[in-house]
Amino acid sequence: MVFDFKDIIEIMEKLEGISSKIEKTQILINILKNTPKENLEYVLLFLMGNIYPEHVEKELGISQNLLMKAMSKAYGHGIEEIERMWKEKGDLGRIAEELCEKRKQTALLFSSLTLREIFNVLRQAADMEGEGSIDKKMSLISGLLIKAKPKESKYLVRFILGDMRIGVAEGLVRDAIIGAYFSQFYWIDIFTSQQSITEEIILRYWKNKVFLISKEAELSHPLFVLIKKIAKEVKEIPEREIERISSFHYSKLKADIVITSSSELGSRLRQSYVELVDEAYALINDISQIALIAYEDGEEGLREVKPVIFRPIKVMLAQKVNTIIEAFNVVGKPAAFEYKFDGFRAQIHKNKDKVVIFTRRLENVTKQFPDIVSYIKEHINAENCIIEGEIIGYNKQTKEWLPFQKLSQRIKRKYYIEKIKEEIPAMIHLFDVVYVDDELVIKKPFKDRRRILEHIVREEDFKVMLAKQIITEDVKEAERFYKESLTKGNEGIMAKNLNAPYKPGLRVGNMLKIKPTLETLDLVIVGAEWGEGKRAGYLSSYELACYDPDTGEFLTIGKLGTGIKEKSEEGTSFEELTEILKPHIIKEEGKHVVIEPRLVVEVTYEEIQKSPHYTSGFALRFPRLVRVRDDKSPEEADTLERVYQIYEMQRGRGIRG
Ligand code: ATP
Repeated sequence: MVFDFKDIIEIMEKLEGISSKIEKTQILINILKNTPKENLEYVLLFLMGNIYPEHVEKELGISQNLLMKAMSKAYGHGIEEIERMWKEKGDLGRIAEELCEKRKQTALLFSSLTLREIFNVLRQAADMEGEGSIDKKMSLISGLLIKAKPKESKYLVRFILGDMRIGVAEGLVRDAIIGAYFSQFYWIDIFTSQQSITEEIILRYWKNKVFLISKEAELSHPLFVLIKKIAKEVKEIPEREIERISSFHYSKLKADIVITSSSELGSRLRQSYVELVDEAYALINDISQIALIAYEDGEEGLREVKPVIFRPIKVMLAQKVNTIIEAFNVVGKPAAFEYKFDGFRAQIHKNKDKVVIFTRRLENVTKQFPDIVSYIKEHINAENCIIEGEIIGYNKQTKEWLPFQKLSQRIKRKYYIEKIKEEIPAMIHLFDVVYVDDELVIKKPFKDRRRILEHIVREEDFKVMLAKQIITEDVKEAERFYKESLTKGNEGIMAKNLNAPYKPGLRVGNMLKIKPTLETLDLVIVGAEWGEGKRAGYLSSYELACYDPDTGEFLTIGKLGTGIKEKSEEGTSFEELTEILKPHIIKEEGKHVVIEPRLVVEVTYEEIQKSPHYTSGFALRFPRLVRVRDDKSPEEADTLERVYQIYEMQRGRGIRG
């Protein structure tokens, strides 16, 4: 079966109506199994609403207004009418569907669009620049819309806007890749009475599949009886065999679904594949390429994935602990402690004489930091490398290190870079290495990576330094170092496990941050209310949401009204937030507005509580604004999982995962 645009539209409709993640995954697995290799990239990018893979810096550059104009041209309705409909419905996709239907075109006039054609046209539009390009882009888009059937128009428009509204994001696509090219792992554990399958899933999605079931399982269990009825084949093998097979080549068994009798084993097997795919993905930042590698070269292929120089990788993240003793408990003794500089994290790629700097958001900021580029060229002795450090600003006169807020002016600055470079000079403190002279070094323990770094860096104060570090097993010594770091103007210290590998894209306990403040949350504003009285004309009461990386959804968790100033001179004000948010309003209902998730804010709170009132299932007590986090994208906001972890920690249950 050739899987193309018309097939995917039918499935999109199904996905939109389903909220269960496990069901969505089953549908995605079917898509992957039916998609031929040459369409895999298009299908995955389309599902996720991306025209290019994540690492490509190009943008389509079609604003909502331009799209409305293209719709107006394609459907012969006035732009005012489309705008009015949009304010009412807040979904241009549905409006396109409605207008397309009204056009009463006979089916014969619709030509069948292919994914290849859609991507070609849109990528052509993305490449257009300069005079007349806006009109040309508009014609290209209206040309596509004219060819599309009503349902197709709906998703085409959403695709152009980059918001498919089907609840499919990286997490689910990753699970689907595992399910399609390796196996799906479930369990029915009668000892712990945990089971990860339901009768509904079996009946709806698992007819004619090949099952591998552990011999130790309670085979008289009604779900197994059902499976035996509907399966194409059931292989029963001992649990230790299942474990052994999985450790080298699972896919050879061609089992669609593996069911163990132990929830521990089942979830461990599943987790091992999750880590395999996640790590490879974090290194090359292209989920469709990962799918292709899994499809063609299986596990081995994924294990051999190497980063590509000048393509940003997803970095390893830190967990928070509150005390040095806690830190030792997590990273072991002795441990490395380093200053936690208050700058921005830079991922630096170098190949011969070329240097590129990426931020945490994987944005290229090379142009903004010509000073750092030349320091790296002069002070790093490696043909090629990917290294990490914190760029901080300092005061030219006093030589004191500056807080991040000051340096952030340089990140935003696109012009007069030479001038600001003089006003806010910057330096870098390097703390890790991922790749050096064509070798991926992430599997090496941290102490060896630090040694490599020491070997390739020629330090020079106020240019390139290694992060100040001590190695100790003594709580008192670590505490002294913590105090010293704070007096230097740093945020705190980092504690690092000397023997741990680098885990790209993951927040595992290999690297910890210790800072004096409460754990804050970085959340996305997704709604607000128009204010009254002295706040009339300004947005207020901002609705906060955390991120669900499985579905790409933003789940609400509270309303923010404090910590925001009345006047801009005093800090982040209502006026300033309104200015940032207003262009992203997507719907208005009386006083309440819905805002496209764009802006990340850091908030403190007194406590996290369970709450049916918000879609995350949690509520923040007394949230208060700390600052706007324009160094983070909405997808980098704190996740539902993180909120849950903090909630558990509050209840004294400690860190998980
Ligand atoms: P997140 O916790 O999500 O990473 P964040 O940016 O709020 O977000 P921080 O609380 O600032 O994270 O802690 C981790 C960050 O600390 C790193 O991403 C890095 O930018 C910074 N950092 C400063 N000094 C160091 C160091 N010596 N080693 C590692 N990271 C450091």
